[in-house]
Amino acid sequence: MSVEQRLAKRMGRIEGSGVRRMFDLIATMKDPINLSIGQADYDAPEEMKEAAIRAIRAGYNRYTPTQGLKVLGERVLDHLEARRGARPESVLMTSGVSGGLLLSMMALLDPGDEVLIPDPYFVMYRNVLALVGAEVRTYDLYPKRDGEGWRPDLEEMAARVGPRTKAILCNSPSNPTGGMLREEDIDRILTLAEAHGLWVLSDEIYDHFSYDFPFASFVPRMERWNRCLVFGGFSKTWGVPGWRLGWAVGPEDVLDAMKLLQQYTFVCCPAPLQHGALAAFDLDMSAHLKAYRRKRDLVYEGLKEDFRIERPEGSFYAFPAYPEGWSEKDFLEAALERKLLIVPGSAFSNRNTNFRLSFAAPDDKLAEGIEILRDLARRGR
Ligand code: PMP
Repeated sequence: MSVEQRLAKRMGRIEGSGVRRMFDLIATMKDPINLSIGQADYDAPEEMKEAAIRAIRAGYNRYTPTQGLKVLGERVLDHLEARRGARPESVLMTSGVSGGLLLSMMALLDPGDEVLIPDPYFVMYRNVLALVGAEVRTYDLYPKRDGEGWRPDLEEMAARVGPRTKAILCNSPSNPTGGMLREEDIDRILTLAEAHGLWVLSDEIYDHFSYDFPFASFVPRMERWNRCLVFGGFSKTWGVPGWRLGWAVGPEDVLDAMKLLQQYTFVCCPAPLQHGALAAFDLDMSAHLKAYRRKRDLVYEGLKEDFRIERPEGSFYAFPAYPEGWSEKDFLEAALERKLLIVPGSAFSNRNTNFRLSFAAPDDKLAEGIEILRDLARRGR
């Protein structure tokens, strides 16, 4: 009996992430130039580490309530109110944004329901939707003209809505494109959601990494359209992806349903780390933001002569096109030969025309990576 025959059928609907495969490869390489990473290259602030260690010593090692520590939930709501000017109705602490997305999809979607997701998309969306039996429809973000940025065409998005469409998923700032939604995009997406009674699921995990203009959130629009869930977390901004801590905010009845599911799955977020996270909101993380803006400039200025590349507006990724004359496979192999790790765009897209480069890396590695990429582009000509 093959392993496929021994496993549940749902396993046939999902596939391993191209990013994870990259991790396996890196483990075998000596001193790679790793621009494939989806997490900040700085460590957690000392204040958070100390608070978590103190919590372990003080005996906070038991279960917390399913929804998370009440004080932490309140701090998340205070934080959102202060930054976004509106206080969501309810909050659930989740096992990262990943946990929140899974619970929301389990709570809202029946098999056969359709969800609109962006293309390019964060790899998890397609696979988790497949797990819950939902159908994926993509709306295109690829710029129609150079310099236009990675933004949805709202008319095209509207045309994708069908009788079984239940939700629109948004991700701004975006992984893998670095693009961001504008206030007007959000307004138009909500108008579409209102017209068809759709849920909006907004993954705002990179909210802090916005380089050129203020980040536009769905949070202040929740009063206008209540069928909105917004996901955020500690992984990226505070450099603690291994802590598995995030939040979902939205209408209380749906968060209650997600909480019920959490009881039987994740149970609760790690207790001492929730105590550590209480220290997060008093910290000033702006020096990191400044450093990442500079890294963004380094990448964009370094590549723009030789690649078709949109200037990343947020997150810590760029999504340039392969230079003319190169196939995806040949380009990635040539990069690998020079010990440069990037992620093929086909891991995030129906197309295979671009690659993802993460600039969450030390400056010297970024500079080396940029040099190799320019060299490959010129060699291809
Ligand atoms: N959403 C996006 C767009 C991401 O890039 C990631 C992490 N790569 C996640 C969600 C998952 O984050 P978390 O660590 O909070 O589960």
